Amino acid sequence: MEEAQLSTACILCLLIFKNFIQRRGRLTINAPKIKTPDLFYKKTFDFLLLDYIFGKTKNYAMPDIKKILYIEDNLDSQELVKLYFRGLAELECYDRAEQILDIVAEKKYDLILMDINLPGKIDGVDAVKILRRDERFKKIPIIAVTAYAMLGDRERFIEVGCDDYISKPFFKSALLDKARRFLQS
Ligand code: MN
Repeated sequence: MEEAQLSTACILCLLIFKNFIQRRGRLTINAPKIKTPDLFYKKTFDFLLLDYIFGKTKNYAMPDIKKILYIEDNLDSQELVKLYFRGLAELECYDRAEQILDIVAEKKYDLILMDINLPGKIDGVDAVKILRRDERFKKIPIIAVTAYAMLGDRERFIEVGCDDYISKPFFKSALLDKARRFLQS
């Protein structure tokens, strides 16, 4: 096995192991407090890892390495999306949006993935509004990301200034197809 393949395999094993431990911990220690969405999410995370490992490989090569910012408080999501973009783009993750203007001003990002439900005072929708009000960041493509899709979500996110929307859990192909539309130009 080549070095790159080996390290990807290691990361995947660690993620699956971590995920397993977390789930077991939650089930045995906090059994009465289990929330269905969490459990649902953990299961889909395993499923998505399998999608990553065995999914059809499509050539997503991009002309140059682009910079992507992912605002996301769920660490599993962060790690999975990092894997999705491995070797294709440079992904930087932050789990809060309070400093959104400083974060975006620091580097020249080609695309922003914005989780909508965030801890703290500023959620994803607020963050998008703040960015769009700033002359410097009016044109950076933003894809909104949510865990629980509701009717009318897409329209709501487009209205505040997002360019597109994807609902979690998503396959690698779904995310990369969307991202590529904004990264190719
Ligand atoms: Mn979230």
